[in-house]
Amino acid sequence: MARRYDVIVVGGGFAGVTAARECALRGRRVLLLEARDRLGGRTWSSAWNGFQIEYGGAWVHWHQPHTFSELTRAGLSVAVSDDAGRAHWHVGAERRTGTIGQRDEIARRGWDRFVEGVREALPQPHAPLAAPGELARFDRLTIAERMEQLDLDEEERDVLAAELESVAHGSLTEAGAVSILRWHALSGYSLELTQFTGGRVTIEAGTGALLGAIADAAAFERRLATPVAAVASRDGQVEVETRDGETFSAGAAIVAVALNALGGIEFRPALPEDKRRAIELGQASRGVKLMIHARGEDVIQNSIRFRHPFGYLDSELLVGDGTQLMIGFGGDAALCDTADLPAVQGSLDDILPGYEVLDATAHDWLADEFSRGTWAIHRPGWYEHHHEAMRRPEGNLILAGSDLANGWAGFIDGAIESGLRAGAWASAIR
Ligand SMILES: Cc1cc2nc3c(=O)[nH]c(=O)nc-3n(C[C@H](O)[C@H](O)[C@H](O)COP(=O)(O)OP(=O)(O)OC[C@H]3O[C@@H](n4cnc5c(N)ncnc54)[C@H](O)[C@@H]3O)c2cc1C
Repeated sequence: MARRYDVIVVGGGFAGVTAARECALRGRRVLLLEARDRLGGRTWSSAWNGFQIEYGGAWVHWHQPHTFSELTRAGLSVAVSDDAGRAHWHVGAERRTGTIGQRDEIARRGWDRFVEGVREALPQPHAPLAAPGELARFDRLTIAERMEQLDLDEEERDVLAAELESVAHGSLTEAGAVSILRWHALSGYSLELTQFTGGRVTIEAGTGALLGAIADAAAFERRLATPVAAVASRDGQVEVETRDGETFSAGAAIVAVALNALGGIEFRPALPEDKRRAIELGQASRGVKLMIHARGEDVIQNSIRFRHPFGYLDSELLVGDGTQLMIGFGGDAALCDTADLPAVQGSLDDILPGYEVLDATAHDWLADEFSRGTWAIHRPGWYEHHHEAMRRPEGNLILAGSDLANGWAGFIDGAIESGLRAGAWASAIR
């Protein structure tokens, strides 16, 4: 039997939870339906071998305004990690070693050329369509195509490609060049800050603490382990059907699931063609984030290698007993099976020899039907053809989520931004 809510939120990641809180704070009766048996979506604070780890999103930064506002509300503090003591980079199969400053200097030569024109294309980083004509010039290119326009020597190309692959978390021939430009613009048009926003500042108590604070800031009903099968709009209300056959009705629905998981929900009537095309296109990330517990020299290392199963590898924590926790990012989840420790050891030897793998772990976000990818990396043409279409409400239905954000799309901050917007919009529907 259908029950009446003011707002139903589908998806309990940062976007959905923020949206539910916003509606509940405005006095709306809210039901949140989450497919997994936990909230958090593509963030997941967990314990592993005595470490507090994040299987998904982890790093935040004070240039991310929505996240920092929530951290202030929740009274949570952040930690800043140390600079790497030693940096490595690969030119072809040859590994070169130096300081992080030396490597950054090589990266900068390619990076500066890659982002040339960014201030004209993205004059307002939180309004990506402020200069559509200028942006389209980049929006039509993949990262690989943009790299081909640059005059780089072999070392510059291999260093830049490794850096970009870690950001794209997928193939450079599929990821759109704008994703790099956006990150750069949002980081104050600075390479140094781009590196900092992407990997130096964490929430001390974990992302789960921030998510919990948002979820508990207002009373709303929530159901876990309840995948939604269909969302139907009819006669000024929405009916949401779960896979178990239950139906709930409300005045408005916010569907805050990952772009690549939207295809798993049936919409009745069908969404307009421009939205269907965007969903079919999806976003291009298909990478892996893995944690390795390893024994070896007590140094904070950072090593990069293009097309390696985890071609961006960083020491996250020196335990003090001759072991350390490393975090690796690779562009293709299919190339990395953390259950196969000898294979992980072989790959580690190829990027940072001298360490013994004790254990490794990762979550396969690509195979997971409720994400089908990691952080959003939009494909060419996204901003010209799909960004606005996906953000446009349809009657009493709105799509939300970091993947559709104006600012930090693909980050926790973008999820909160989108949840704030969707919550305000849905609360206004009577
Ligand atoms: C490995 C990895 C590393 C990352 N690193 C960072 C980082 O360091 N910093 C950063 O800011 N961001 C990072 N991100 C990105 C960030 O985590 C995400 O952009 C953000 O958490 C997305 O939030 P969301 O609410 O938009 O979507 P999601 O978190 O995907 O939430 C959507 C929710 O919808 C649910 N759902 C899906 N289908 C259904 C259905 N049919 N019915 C009901 N529920 C459904 C899902 O289970 C999920 O809980 C990372 C992501 C990954 C995967």
